Amino acid sequence: MTLSKIIIVGAGPAGCVLALLLANAGINVELLEASDTLDDSPRASFYPWPAVRELERAGLLPEVRERGYVVADGVSWRRLDGSLIGRMDASKVPYDRRLHGLPLGKLLALTREHLDRRPNAKIHYLHKVTRLEQGQDKAKVYVDTPEGEKVFEADYIVGCDGANSTVRRALFGDEFPGYTWPEQIVATNVYYDISKFGWGQGAFIVDPENFALIALLQKDGLYRVSYGEKVGLTKEEYEARQPEKFRKILPGNPEPKDYKLVSLNPYKIHQRCAQSFKVGRFLLAADAAHLCNPFGGLGLTGGLVDVGNLFDCLNGVHQGLADDSILDRYSEVRRKMYKEIIDPVSTQNLKHLLQDPDVALKEDPLFQNMDTMQDPDAVAKMVSGINNIMHDFTQEYKQPNTNGSATSDIKAPISAEVKPVAVSD
Ligand SMILES: Cc1cc2nc3c(=O)[nH]c(=O)nc-3n(C[C@H](O)[C@H](O)[C@H](O)COP(=O)(O)OP(=O)(O)OC[C@H]3O[C@@H](n4cnc5c(N)ncnc54)[C@H](O)[C@@H]3O)c2cc1C
Repeated sequence: MTLSKIIIVGAGPAGCVLALLLANAGINVELLEASDTLDDSPRASFYPWPAVRELERAGLLPEVRERGYVVADGVSWRRLDGSLIGRMDASKVPYDRRLHGLPLGKLLALTREHLDRRPNAKIHYLHKVTRLEQGQDKAKVYVDTPEGEKVFEADYIVGCDGANSTVRRALFGDEFPGYTWPEQIVATNVYYDISKFGWGQGAFIVDPENFALIALLQKDGLYRVSYGEKVGLTKEEYEARQPEKFRKILPGNPEPKDYKLVSLNPYKIHQRCAQSFKVGRFLLAADAAHLCNPFGGLGLTGGLVDVGNLFDCLNGVHQGLADDSILDRYSEVRRKMYKEIIDPVSTQNLKHLLQDPDVALKEDPLFQNMDTMQDPDAVAKMVSGINNIMHDFTQEYKQPNTNGSATSDIKAPISAEVKPVAVSD
């Protein structure tokens, strides 16, 4: 079956990377995006190898490195007073397998620049999907636009419309199985010279109330500081409390005159996964399909691996190498990866931080085995554990793949054998 068109709801990072992969393979794609502005909120910033690989397949990697940076240091864990609990020696993690850093807004700008150069890809801004319909051969969406309601149809429609996905709600109602953490975080981007304190490029604060991540975001000295906060305040209240939080959390106990705050946003944090990622001709991917807390950088990473897998499945159908049932496998495999790896690993990453450090040193295997973190070979092996979220769908084609879209370094069988790894948010 040759696909005439795929529609993607949501031109966020997941939707844009999927659109690029499809367009590069000659498949027509249209993105429907509710907003007309670039989302520059302080969210995704750091990506481990499974995400970097998909950025590479989409043709984005050289510019990701140019506009962002490759993290050289291993992370450290610290008490609220800044004293060191332990440090990870990441010196033997190969260059291309290291965390790559690029703020969400810059990644989005880059993907949209590439899409603008593809004649078979089009983004419709101010197009908000409101409801869905599907028949035997096509799926349809009804869309609010500045010119009134329009209807778009395609062979398949993919919901990449984020945590509050209209597509997911239309398929399953308000139920999004999982839970919301009782903790709240506030994410900020800030210029403050942390390098002079010898903290390296990334540090976690272990503290039940003031847990935090402090990490270099850009080569020019912009840092991401995400910290634990009280639940249920207004954005203005979080803004008013921020100077006191920075005084407690940051080295040098700075006053507002000592730093330049660029952005601040509060976030609830969730662990949730949709009942299925396929209903007929509608598919779900990334935040529309699953959510996890950001400590460990597995949110968009899981989302980019979804869209890379979905691309291989749709491309297999397009080329006659697979039938529609491969899309049921997509749902099965990606949900399993979330449940067996992304959910438990990201949960553990946050739990490591929500403790009294002295208790953690006595009871938490991560902190009891800090010697292992000093062993660069052990760290390189541990970091590679997260590669188990990858899956090669071209191995499930009915005929051998000839387009070379997947690389051979993926372990095809799903393995849950992965050690908790706390790398960054
Ligand atoms: C503080 C924080 C830090 C994070 N750090 C990391 C990190 O370092 N690494 C990592 O991998 N992940 C991280 N994440 C997670 C990451 O930001 C998300 O997983 C990612 O942004 C999800 O991308 P997405 O494309 O699925 O959804 P979104 O980015 O939410 O995009 C969805 C798009 O759909 C559009 N849309 C919504 N509804 C409709 C509709 N009805 N019709 C049309 N369009 C619609 C929206 O306007 C939006 O453009 C972090 C998250 C937070 C909160």
